[in-house]
Amino acid sequence: MDDLTKTISDARSFLQRADDILQTVLVWTSPPVSPVSDKWCAPVGTLEFPSRMWYAATVHDLTGEKNRGYKHSGVDLNLDRSPWGDVDRGEPVFAVAAGRVYGTWHSVKNLASVVIEVEHAEQPLYCRYWHLRRDKTFLELRPGADIEVGQKLGHLGAYARGGDHLHFDMALDRFHPGCWLISAVRWIDPVPVLEKHLGLDCIDAMMRKGDS
Ligand SMILES: [Zn+2]
Repeated sequence: MDDLTKTISDARSFLQRADDILQTVLVWTSPPVSPVSDKWCAPVGTLEFPSRMWYAATVHDLTGEKNRGYKHSGVDLNLDRSPWGDVDRGEPVFAVAAGRVYGTWHSVKNLASVVIEVEHAEQPLYCRYWHLRRDKTFLELRPGADIEVGQKLGHLGAYARGGDHLHFDMALDRFHPGCWLISAVRWIDPVPVLEKHLGLDCIDAMMRKGDS
């Protein structure tokens, strides 16, 4: 009887270990969702190049004071990895929150952008992912389609020699996925929004690296 009890106990602990391992595998194969949020995730970052390896080369700045005179609606996210420049090309881009495709836009140089409507602070928020490649993942995005948090929206395209990046911006009003700064749109800084949902540590590492 003791042997049987021991066998059952061993089997239980084996199953518990197997379950722990399975949970670990599931966590590591999931989209890069921050552990402090079950609803939002970073727009860039993979297991190989996590979001903390990305930085904002250009920040949200509607007056041009922070970007040496350059007015900019969002943040330009770059992978901080030698030899820099175009190392971001082909990196996947993820929906930061669940929402709906508001519109897509195809620009020159085979680049594209998508605006996703999500909810933040109990109001609609429009998030744009710009400078994507017009590949199969992007071309499958249809206006009106539901998007899950962490869903892959596409991959970074060839923006310019040495200048590939994700331009990521947010507005409280609907805007055309191809529009540049227009005053009629209430742009907001994406960093505090992501901070709120992803946690300060994550965003500090990811966004503020370029400040130093
Ligand atoms: Zn930009």
